[in-house]
Amino acid sequence: MEERNYRLQAVILHNRDFKENDKLVSFFSSERGKETALAKGARKPNSSLRGIVQPFCEVEIDFAKGRGSLDIITQGQMRNAYLHLHNDLDKIAYASYIAELTDLALPEKKAAPTVFYLLLATLAMIDLSDQLFLAARFFELRLLTALGIFPLLNCCSGCGHSISGSSFYLSPYRGGLLCSSCSVEQPRISAGTVRLMQYLATADLKKVLNLKINDQMGQEMEKALEIYLNYYLEKVSQAKRFINQLEKGSLNY
Ligand SMILES: [Zn+2]
Repeated sequence: MEERNYRLQAVILHNRDFKENDKLVSFFSSERGKETALAKGARKPNSSLRGIVQPFCEVEIDFAKGRGSLDIITQGQMRNAYLHLHNDLDKIAYASYIAELTDLALPEKKAAPTVFYLLLATLAMIDLSDQLFLAARFFELRLLTALGIFPLLNCCSGCGHSISGSSFYLSPYRGGLLCSSCSVEQPRISAGTVRLMQYLATADLKKVLNLKINDQMGQEMEKALEIYLNYYLEKVSQAKRFINQLEKGSLNY
């Protein structure tokens, strides 16, 4: 028999107002994956749940089984509020993006501990460093690995030739690169950008934080990954669109 009360360590993905005083809270836990619960009275100014249900906080939440499909959040404790993140519009935009990607990429109630710890590591990176662009690409690439859809980057998916020559197309349809003999599709990425993507997907986090990316490689990687993710998620990220607007004319890596 299922427990009537239980506790989870979770990251809040987003919340929305519900009825007069309540909030519907979408969160992600290592044990149960992504789901939604009801925080009764959380819109009231003096509610103890107000702080706990804020997006991008790492919390420990107590639940009671609800009568319907929604369980009830009864209380919670803050484990990490990521305070720098919540005081900076750019950081909020990037955290919104990785929370939205998590939400779009994963099915309800399916445990994905690798993604949970990736989410925590990336939130910490956004909170404590100014490497926001790098944090987003780090998350995207490792999410692709966790989902089992990381592109084949060692050779051309068309002719099988090893990665040499100057430019490639990252084909979501083929799940890998196509060399200039196999495809003329745009946008193109250089061999250097391909190596950078491999490095970001696998290198130790400390090394990643010290990485300096040149603008051209950064832009190639960002565009290629955006197309790749849009194809698999079948949806364009609203938060990514917002970041693109924030950075329009003032790209700052
Ligand atoms: Zn080829």
